[in-house]
Amino acid sequence: GETLPLWQSISTLTNGQGEIEHYIYVFHDIRKQKILEEELKHLAEHDRLTGICNRTRLYRLQEQAINDLERYDTPFSLIMLDIDCFKDINDEYGHDAGDSVLKALTDVIIRQLRDSDEVGRWGGDEFMLLAGHTHLDGAIKLAERVRASIEATSFDDVGSVTVSLGVVEFHRGMTLAESGKAVDEALYRAKRRGRNRVESLPGDT
Ligand code: GH3
Ligand code: MG
Repeated sequence: GETLPLWQSISTLTNGQGEIEHYIYVFHDIRKQKILEEELKHLAEHDRLTGICNRTRLYRLQEQAINDLERYDTPFSLIMLDIDCFKDINDEYGHDAGDSVLKALTDVIIRQLRDSDEVGRWGGDEFMLLAGHTHLDGAIKLAERVRASIEATSFDDVGSVTVSLGVVEFHRGMTLAESGKAVDEALYRAKRRGRNRVESLPGDT
C-alpha cells in the first residue's frame, strides 16, 4: 500500500521474424537516491549550525518576493540583524558558547515570526528576515519585537545578548544589490547610534 519511486527500463525480445514476443521490465528501487537528493538540496539551502535558510535560499526568497511585488503589488520588507559585540562573547566564553548563542537566538527570532515571514543566516553573526506582505511600519514593529525579545532572554552561560537591526521596505524597480546596500546602511546606523536598537531607511536624518 506504499508509493515508492522506481527507475524502470523496458526492453523487448523478438523472435526470428522480428516480432515482439516478450517484454523485460527491470525495476530499481530508488528510495535511497531520492532521500539523498533531498538531503543534498536541504544542505545546499540551509545553514548547518542553526538549520535555517542560508544566503543562497534568502536570495531565492527575495527573488520570489520581488516577483510578487511586481505582479500583484504585494509589499515586502527586509530586516538585517547583527549581534552586538559578538567577538567579545566568543573571546570571553569560547567559540562553542558563541555557537550556542547563535542557535538559541535563532529560536527566539523564530518565535516572533508570522507565517508570511522568513529568517535566514546571512553569515557570521548576521541574520536576514524577510517580512512578507509588510510595509515599512509593520517591519519596524516586527524588528522591535525581535530586538526586545532577545534583550529579555538570558542565554545559557553567556547571559544577556543584544542585537542591532536595520529595516527597509523593498520598492518596485529596486535591485537586490540596492536593497542589500540600504539595509546594511540602516544596520550600520543602528550600530553607530549605540547598538541594541532598530533603524530604518528612509529615515529622518
Ligand atoms: P558589532 O557590535 O560591531 O557587530 O561587533 P561584533 O564583535 O559582533 O563584530 P562583527 O559583527 O564584525 O563580528 C562578528 C564575529 O562573529 C566575528 C566572528 O568571530 C564571530 N563569528 C562569525 N561566525 C561565527 C560562528 O559560526 N560561530 C561563532 N561562535 N562565532 C562566529
Ligand atoms: Mg556583530
